Amino acid sequence: MIPAVVQTAYIISTALFVFSLNWMKDPKTARRGVFAGVAAMIIAIGSTLVEPGIVNWDWIALAIVLGFAVGIPLSKVPLTAVPQRTALSHSFGGLAAGLVGTAKFYLWFNEGPENLTAFRMIAIVAEIILGYLTFTGSLMAAGKLQEVKWIPQRPVTYRGQNFINIGLLSIAVIMGILLILNPLQFTYLFPFIIILALLFGILLIIPIGGADMPTVISLLNSYAGLSAVAMGFVLDNKLLVTAGALDGSSGLILSIIMCKAMNRSFTNVLFGAFGQVQKGAQTVEQRTVKTETTEGAAQILEQASSVVIIPGYGMAVAQAQYRIRELYDLLSKNGVDVKFAIHPVAGRMPGHMNVLLAEANIPYEKLVEMDDINPDMAQVDVALVVGANDVVNPAARHDNSSPIYGMPIINADKAKMCFAIKRTMNPGFAGIENELYFAEHTFMLFGDAKAVIGELVKQLSADLIGTEK
Ligand code: NAP
Repeated sequence: MIPAVVQTAYIISTALFVFSLNWMKDPKTARRGVFAGVAAMIIAIGSTLVEPGIVNWDWIALAIVLGFAVGIPLSKVPLTAVPQRTALSHSFGGLAAGLVGTAKFYLWFNEGPENLTAFRMIAIVAEIILGYLTFTGSLMAAGKLQEVKWIPQRPVTYRGQNFINIGLLSIAVIMGILLILNPLQFTYLFPFIIILALLFGILLIIPIGGADMPTVISLLNSYAGLSAVAMGFVLDNKLLVTAGALDGSSGLILSIIMCKAMNRSFTNVLFGAFGQVQKGAQTVEQRTVKTETTEGAAQILEQASSVVIIPGYGMAVAQAQYRIRELYDLLSKNGVDVKFAIHPVAGRMPGHMNVLLAEANIPYEKLVEMDDINPDMAQVDVALVVGANDVVNPAARHDNSSPIYGMPIINADKAKMCFAIKRTMNPGFAGIENELYFAEHTFMLFGDAKAVIGELVKQLSADLIGTEK
């Protein structure tokens, strides 16, 4: 009776995971998608706990308490820290898979060699290699994004790097094959495979630079999913196999979408050390920027017939989305056509800008994807850049020595006039100067995005009240 109930619960849970992913495709249904995912996970855990195979509740209780102790604070990180939080979750997933694989290998080994069948050994080897490399790789990625002091933020590259990386992985795989072929004779290789996988995870991430980090994180997500698939085979748990496959494939699809958005190939992301600032790539020449006051900018915005707001990471830091909503309302009321240009990697996670603008109830149809808005940018009166930097840097189009060369950008520089809001002349994520700020028709509005937009709103409200009188 119980196994049938568990299997039915697993099917329901799998279906909910599929629906959850499908609903998360659209902001209108995304919330439902989150609830479906949570329900699927609760059903999955609950039904696993009634499995008759459980002999010891102490460890399970301890794991649940530990999970809550780590998970609750993690759920409270600010939205700007979600990428590193996500990377940390992947590292936990990888570690869990690795530990389960290790425990199962030695348990079966002690119970009798006949347990270590070729099928089980293939699953265990895949699980530990993917699991442990995801663990250290994701930890490194989280550390880099969190700007942990002792982890170099810049890509670290050296001669023969790809050779060493691929060599290490190949040695681990060869050892794995030997272990699969003869687990008894090559038992001693097991810890070495773990060490190599851990090392490979670190070496995989150190050459990755700023702009490619999001793609790599979703790739690690995919590895975590694949290690869960292998774990499902090891534990003979169908739900883990299907849930892991969903995780692995969605991570892979997201990586491909992001690679396309950033004009990168997978091999480039993994082995090309993109985001690296090449020596001599930066111009050291001193250039000056033009600034504008919020009064002047408000007058120009008021007279414009079309305004495109380009949000970036700085909007998230400043939490300026609510002020932007007020600005949008005022301008729209004044007959200005206002749109929002969304770059696929603006901010620090996929969909970051969409989430924040949705939070402020900005009508979703006003958000226009980069490819759709770019052809119209030359006709736009004002491009208002709010805390965006790399995603509007024209160097990406023509400077082949730039670390972001080839990444499609939003063509803010093509608009008739551009205002750029940021606090200083500090660079963005990729660590490079932005040509846009020095362009003929660009004017800087220096300050915190929330404060500057707040000032613009004040000016515009005063002007509009004056006009009504
Ligand atoms: P960005 O290049 O990181 O630039 C953000 C800008 O915001 C900075 O120039 C900063 O300048 C400004 N800023 C910060 N706080 C501010 C505040 N309170 N008020 C006003 N301005 C503020 O951002 P982006 O253009 O959105 O580009 C995203 C970058 O992150 C890309 O390189 C992308 O590849 C990378 N990335 C993306 C993801 C993802 O999944 N979306 C994940 C990881 C990395 P000041 O300090 O001078 O104010």
